[in-house]
Amino acid sequence: MDGKALAERVRAEVRAEVEQLGELGLATVLVGDDAASEIYIRRKHEAANEVGIESLDIRLPASTTQEALEARVAELNADPSVHGILVQLPLPAQLDEEAVIDTIDPLKDVDGLHPSNAGRLYLGRPRLVPATPIGIMALLARYDIELDGATAVVIGRSNIVGKPVAQLLQQQHATVIMCHSHTRDLERETLDADVLVVAAGHAALVTADMVRHGSAVIDVGMNRTDAGLVGDVDPVAMEVAGHMTPVPGGVGPMTIACLLRNTVQAARLQRTAFEFRST
Ligand code: NAD
Repeated sequence: MDGKALAERVRAEVRAEVEQLGELGLATVLVGDDAASEIYIRRKHEAANEVGIESLDIRLPASTTQEALEARVAELNADPSVHGILVQLPLPAQLDEEAVIDTIDPLKDVDGLHPSNAGRLYLGRPRLVPATPIGIMALLARYDIELDGATAVVIGRSNIVGKPVAQLLQQQHATVIMCHSHTRDLERETLDADVLVVAAGHAALVTADMVRHGSAVIDVGMNRTDAGLVGDVDPVAMEVAGHMTPVPGGVGPMTIACLLRNTVQAARLQRTAFEFRST
């Protein structure tokens, strides 16, 4: 499954929408100097600028206090030129991530992590949904993967990937099995999967003998090893799977493209809210 090609299409759609909507702004907040986070932030800014979204790259020292970070987020909430706010996780240990996320305006929450956005997804009334799960669903749709009645196994239960993708798969009428670090026999579950989504952050956690013949495998993992960037699924599994995303070039580019799409959607939501308040 070619995430790079599909992401290019999504970015072209976003570019056209940005032209129509006028000026849009995406602000990212990076606290500290985590090397991987720096790379992700740089990619997000490059992609935003490429589709005509203004980006604001806020860097704060690792010693930033909770109050200072929340005050910065409040400023961004109040800034009409900022339509999307993304606080890059993980935050340094002294900071309370949940409390920071709670302070983000839910209509600017392009990561879809605010409790009101996560809650809406859980209720089947999605508003802003994390970008990686949206990208995964777009890839499954692009390759006509049947979800109605399918068994979908999700490995990983993070708020940003595992839980939301499980919700979206269930809303498409898949039977969803959630696996995580306490799952007793991973292979027993994965061999049942028509659709297997792997987001654990462990290189080669899933080997070819754990993949059902002809299934669709989405490898979300991004692990930096001596051999370069690798996923959570052994690439040999491509010989068994009917469809599989490569790493790199699968989910990664879709995540960035869908983050841009979320920024456009956030801007639309803010406009509608403004018009509603003005009437
Ligand atoms: P996380 O660390 O928050 O969660 C990992 C999850 O995997 C946990 O729920 C844990 O229970 C589960 N897990 C860990 N070891 C396991 C094992 N041995 N067996 C079964 N389950 C296990 O991670 P995350 O933020 O969801 O990210 C997961 C991976 O996806 C990471 O490699 C991350 O870099 C990558 N990622 C990629 C993209 C992308 O755009 N491609 C986006 C987000 C995350």
